[in-house]
Amino acid sequence: MIALSLAEIAEVVGGQTHDIPDPSVQITGSVVRDSREVEPGSLFVAFVGERVDGHDFAQAVVAAGAAAVLGSRPVGVPAIVVPDVQKALGALARHVVRRLGATLVALTGSVGKTSTKDLIAQVLQHRAPTVWTPGSFNNEIGLPLTALSATEDTRFLVLEMGARGVGHIRYLTDLTPPRIGVVLNVGTAHIGEFGGREQIAQAKGELVEGLPPSEDGGAAILNADDPLVRAMASRTKAKVLLFGESGEADVRAENVRLTDSGQPSFVLHTPSGCSDVTMRLYGEHHVSNALAAAAVAHELGMSAEEIATALSEAGSLSRWRMEVTERPDGVTIVNDAYNANPESMRAALRALAAMAKGRRTWAVLGKMAELGDEALTEHDAVGRLAVRLNVSKLVAVGDREASWLQLGAYNEGSWGEESVHVSDAQAAVDLLRSELRTGDVVLVKASRSVGLEQVVLALLEGE
Ligand code: ATP
Ligand code: MG
Repeated sequence: MIALSLAEIAEVVGGQTHDIPDPSVQITGSVVRDSREVEPGSLFVAFVGERVDGHDFAQAVVAAGAAAVLGSRPVGVPAIVVPDVQKALGALARHVVRRLGATLVALTGSVGKTSTKDLIAQVLQHRAPTVWTPGSFNNEIGLPLTALSATEDTRFLVLEMGARGVGHIRYLTDLTPPRIGVVLNVGTAHIGEFGGREQIAQAKGELVEGLPPSEDGGAAILNADDPLVRAMASRTKAKVLLFGESGEADVRAENVRLTDSGQPSFVLHTPSGCSDVTMRLYGEHHVSNALAAAAVAHELGMSAEEIATALSEAGSLSRWRMEVTERPDGVTIVNDAYNANPESMRAALRALAAMAKGRRTWAVLGKMAELGDEALTEHDAVGRLAVRLNVSKLVAVGDREASWLQLGAYNEGSWGEESVHVSDAQAAVDLLRSELRTGDVVLVKASRSVGLEQVVLALLEGE
């Protein structure tokens, strides 16, 4: 964080100081909510959760070097006490980003936020010191914590913004107002909670409504291939830059193909020129993510060559997203167990199919959560797609939704033998252990709650 004294922080958040002998002491470490991340000079933010009360760690974090606690009650060690800790954290983040010299880039979308955020950060990092959200720290707590990790040296701050309802993005953009806003797509993720695609579009579009006008440097970076995103151009005063396959896109990819190992390669076109890219990431869906990142970088003054080099070097910074590992016995494991929704399931299956090259492919899939009324249709469609893409074997893991996946596959063709339905991750592991052979490629994917990474960990045990 930028150096701030406890007295300044108390003032910014409207808090009372308790047990603070010297209010001029500065926070010189990070602002954290996890007691294990405390370092000397940290500010520890105590939340009262369902199972854990952060205040219980107050003594321990101060013993570990924390300068003070930000919480909702006095704790017998130096503390700034406020009625609402989340609000206070937000106020502190807002204050800090105003004082930073950094350019803020925010992105949202239904799918691919974390992957694209990692790409944007790595491309901008080529240019100047960049801070970004680790993993999916994209909500009202993770976002301010990320913003607070920026320092005086930070030139670019890249923020993932998630929404589970209308008004959520507006809340986040009020805390950390971006100069550049990127909207990737409007899909079906969390559609059960939103009620429909139109509502999702309404919610995601809040990102571009809050941008500064073009004369003040505001830029909205929109996916030209997604009509609901493209339509957001009318909701912003910022300059609009389109990315995508469409011929009208300002930033485009041409000659897109997958290399023999399944990595996308294309010619990047930006308004400043064109240059070849071969990505290290797997799956064609990353092309769209890469174009979004390229558009941001172009807007911030990078040349097509510079962007192409950075994109070609970029790896995944967040785990369990299309992580490819080849075992010594020649079995390839594709770990995409972080999460799943219909769009990412389709993308992952297509990537698996591209990696086949005559080898046997396995799709070990579990349910996609939060689909509301569309759950049956969407699981059925994914099962069918696995057959159409000639996946050699589908292992559907779990209960109801898994049976829909398998039924979809069964109904799509004479495929009964090749699709199995098992009750849990352990059963999937047992099956795979006895059946996998050299050359097989195994994709593992489901919603986070299914915990299918257990399958990957078991299959990679001892590596
Ligand atoms: P969350 O809402 O959980 O934060 P997210 O929007 O951050 O998700 P990622 O974590 O980047 O999304 O990716 C989720 C899954 O979608 C991964 O399996 C990833 O490989 C896949 N994916 C990433 N980008 C795309 C894309 N453009 N289209 C389809 N699938 C994608
Ligand atoms: Mg994410």
